[in-house]
Amino acid sequence: FTQGLEAVKEKPSVSPDGRHISLYANTGLISDINLSIAAGCEGIGLHRTEFPFLIRDRFPGEEDQVLLYRQVLEQFSPRPVVLRTLDVGGDKSLPYFPIHEENPFLGWRGIRLTLDHPEIFLTQLRAMLRADVGLNNLQILLPMVSRLEEIGDVRELLARAKEELAEDGIEARTPPLGVMIEVPATIYQIDRYCDQADFLSLGSNDLTQYLLAVDRNNSRVANLYDELHPAVLAAVREVVWAARRHGKRLTVCGGMAGDPAGAILLMGLGVQGLSMSVSSLLRIKWVVRRVPVSRAAELVNRAIEMDSPEEVRRMLRRTLEEYE
Ligand code: PEP
Ligand code: MG
Repeated sequence: FTQGLEAVKEKPSVSPDGRHISLYANTGLISDINLSIAAGCEGIGLHRTEFPFLIRDRFPGEEDQVLLYRQVLEQFSPRPVVLRTLDVGGDKSLPYFPIHEENPFLGWRGIRLTLDHPEIFLTQLRAMLRADVGLNNLQILLPMVSRLEEIGDVRELLARAKEELAEDGIEARTPPLGVMIEVPATIYQIDRYCDQADFLSLGSNDLTQYLLAVDRNNSRVANLYDELHPAVLAAVREVVWAARRHGKRLTVCGGMAGDPAGAILLMGLGVQGLSMSVSSLLRIKWVVRRVPVSRAAELVNRAIEMDSPEEVRRMLRRTLEEYE
């Protein structure tokens, strides 16, 4: 089987019925970068910028951040790189910026924290814009968005960062701005999000956690956490349909995209971009090359009508066995 995986490395990510599915990497460490280039992905669909913030003893400064982002953008250029703005809070807390909350996953995390601290946010945005100069492959993604105004607030900060840089003689580009669809409320206003964002990225990890009200890190309820829950699939379908209606680019970047069963269902829904951990890339390319999208579409229609995620998993396990 491993040999089978090596064999797909150089092959295109196209289904037997001729549909191209773009595969991107989720990265966070510089070491992920070379591996994902080697696996032949089309770009970075999610670069989590938290890591350098987590391992330092204070907020990294602008120069420090420029160097970090520049490395990622440069190594992938001309392929697109999606840098997500700081997503701390929730399960990721900074030792030098402690947050004590009863419900951290419902608390001060992601965009909520950075919008409350424009000095932290502006430093990061300036660093991203500076790193992109001359490369032009940067896209910016916002985590934990739950209100439409947050997008406008970020656009204002981005414009300010760009003006400040211009005053310093640096001509930065305004990159595409994307929104993570990971809070269920966004799905009930999805048309508005499509209007206001340049692209969407569906975070199935948090979306599953919030839809099912199951802490994604609590082992006691781990058996209830399943991204293939029919309710999650139905929610994902709403997002895919809305993105299509509006002609907006949509990538799925949570664990569902890197799970062979999840990837099949996403292909069946018509998702054209999957972003996953580097270790899943070849496996998923193998799946894409084996399973026709028409078959995947039948499977997802059945899955959404099922009662439980276990039933969905059983069906997908049988399907995958057929193709092995
Ligand atoms: C997600 O929530 O699905 C996601 C991709 O982001 P993270 O796992 O970093 O919260
Ligand atoms: Mg998330």
